[in-house]
Amino acid sequence: MAENNLRISSNSIFLIFSDLDGCFLDHHDYQYAHTIDQARTLEDLGIPLIFNSSKTRSEITLLCAEIGNHHPFIIENGAAVLVPENYFNFRPKDRTSSAQYEMFQLARIKGYWLECIASLKSDFPGDFVSFQDLSLADVMDLTGLVKGAAIAAMERQFSEPVMWLGSQISKTKFINSLQRKGATVTQGGRFLSVGGNCDKGRALKWLRDLYAANNSIKSVNDLAIGDSENDLPMLEVAMEAVLIRSPSHKFPKVNRADGLYKSKKFGPRGWTEEVSSWLKRHKLS
Ligand SMILES: [Mg+2]
Repeated sequence: MAENNLRISSNSIFLIFSDLDGCFLDHHDYQYAHTIDQARTLEDLGIPLIFNSSKTRSEITLLCAEIGNHHPFIIENGAAVLVPENYFNFRPKDRTSSAQYEMFQLARIKGYWLECIASLKSDFPGDFVSFQDLSLADVMDLTGLVKGAAIAAMERQFSEPVMWLGSQISKTKFINSLQRKGATVTQGGRFLSVGGNCDKGRALKWLRDLYAANNSIKSVNDLAIGDSENDLPMLEVAMEAVLIRSPSHKFPKVNRADGLYKSKKFGPRGWTEEVSSWLKRHKLS
């Protein structure tokens, strides 16, 4: 690896895969005031903080530039992995390069899903709106994002957010209809995300294997941190997992017997608390 001094201990490297909204970022105001110091500590320790989010490439690129994170990240619920150029010596040939990142696509692009969603409009009248129906002002209003951030949120390449307005029964039918068309539908903090056959867990494994291959090691000690249902696939495949307490919903049910921790504090404060505990458990701080 060109520029990175990874922490290696007992022939193992340490990685953190983290969701953004409600975890690294506050659910309400999207701030990272309570996590930024811990992020800097991880950087000093040589532990990559890898964002694994339903957010777009544009959104995560902005955040990484702002906080000085130079590590790969995973976009749109596992649809693609973005790796800074020259970060890994060895990587798959099937990739596209632009704006100092290489992109490895793990799912089909958005156009197909837009057609699927549009075809369900008449069966579910008034039950949902998706990003393609919304103006910039609507998105700012629904998400609480400021203008630049809302524009970045609308630059989706692989998936379409849908806000559900109808009943729970209709919602289940809607999801089933999309699944029959091959879609993966996940519930995020605010929106249903409709995309291809991908999830945060498969993308985590893909990137974990790439780290292992590039560092000639067999064992990766990874921690996944999330708060919502769309985080479950990564919370179930990482060596250890943390659920962050949410002010807006209960803990989702994680299907694993051990290595699961639940934060006492909400959101970013819980994130910092649990990263500290993980560092102590592994004697890294
Ligand atoms: Mg979240």
